[in-house]
Amino acid sequence: MTCCSEKEDAFIARFERRFAESGTDSPLTFAEAEEIFTAYKALLRRMGRIAKISDSYQSEVKSLVLELREAAANVKTLKGFIPICASCKKVRNDEVYWKQLEQYLAEHSDAMLSHGLCPDCAGTYRSLSGRIPEPGGRTSPDPARLLDEADVEDPVILRFLPTVNNRHFAETPLYGDFTLLFQKYVRLSRRLKRIARISDSYQFELQDIKTRFEQASRSDYLTGLSNRLDMYKRLEAERSRTARHGKPFAVIMADIDRFKEINDTFGHDLGDQVLVTIARAFAGCLRGEDSCARWGGEEFLILLPETCGDDALAVAERLRGLAENLALESGTSRIRVTISLGVAVYAAGENIDSCIKRADDALYRAKNAGRNRSVLHV
Ligand code: GH3
Ligand code: MG
Ligand code: MG
Repeated sequence: MTCCSEKEDAFIARFERRFAESGTDSPLTFAEAEEIFTAYKALLRRMGRIAKISDSYQSEVKSLVLELREAAANVKTLKGFIPICASCKKVRNDEVYWKQLEQYLAEHSDAMLSHGLCPDCAGTYRSLSGRIPEPGGRTSPDPARLLDEADVEDPVILRFLPTVNNRHFAETPLYGDFTLLFQKYVRLSRRLKRIARISDSYQFELQDIKTRFEQASRSDYLTGLSNRLDMYKRLEAERSRTARHGKPFAVIMADIDRFKEINDTFGHDLGDQVLVTIARAFAGCLRGEDSCARWGGEEFLILLPETCGDDALAVAERLRGLAENLALESGTSRIRVTISLGVAVYAAGENIDSCIKRADDALYRAKNAGRNRSVLHV
């Protein structure tokens, strides 16, 4: 397992840049983003530590598998019995060993496996396990009994299990070392699985933070609509599409009339509620391919792909009617909300700012003409 920290650093840097560039008018959004940044960075640090631990376990497992293989190569199932070391293949000449074997053969007439290690090789195996087993004796309980279902899914464990459970092998000096090695592997394999699970849960958490972060960077905290940055991207994408296919698109700039008075009369919280209600009403009445963003304090920008001036003006009028008929109340008083709208159709070759400026000019005319109306820029 590796931690792709360079990629993650680039991810953070990209978003920090995007937030700095977004020029959002809501300090709360930035604070929220900062909070997510902090959580994200902390999680990355934790992931980095886990990755390091996991990497060291991985290499320990690798060397253990090699040791197991080497040890298993020394376990020979020979009929009869040969006086050579199972590891270095030298002829053995230590007295104690021969005596033990004689005794063993006397007690086990059906012995199929008989081999052992010379003192030098036995020393090597003992240092592998860190425990000195009694020659010929069993040093640990039957490892097969200690295994659970998840262990047996491990191909290495599965492969060496028959060796460990070979009852003839169990009576030989090598058995103690081999089973210790085997158990060491089982413990390590379990630890590695636990680490992998922790790491997986961190990955999920990381993904979740990324998604929330992406969403936060694209949306307006109060209304949940697209924010200005996101709308700008959509407008640029639409401009490129228009350049390729020549299909016009329209934009509508909508602004709540005398919103300051609403705030002053009913309070800022209720003003917020008005913004949320209007946002929901707008979003609910547009086509799936249209987009609506909170462009500024009480201004909304609507993008209508493949729409001509007359159709866009009709949409603007529909939105105006929606706002006018919203059932908003404060105590016993009804809050009357109206909006003014400016409409512009993108002209081939112009840039997005100029198109928005034309919609703004049309809005200005709607305000000057008495508000609660829509004007198409021609
Ligand atoms: P006009 O008809 O000319 O648009 O008048 P107006 O009062 O709507 O325009 P003005 O630009 O003078 O005031 C806009 C007000 O919108 C002022 C500001 O306090 C309020 N506002 C901006 N953002 C928010 C917000 O997030 N919540 C609330 N409650 N009010 C906001
Ligand atoms: Mg305004
Ligand atoms: Mg206004």
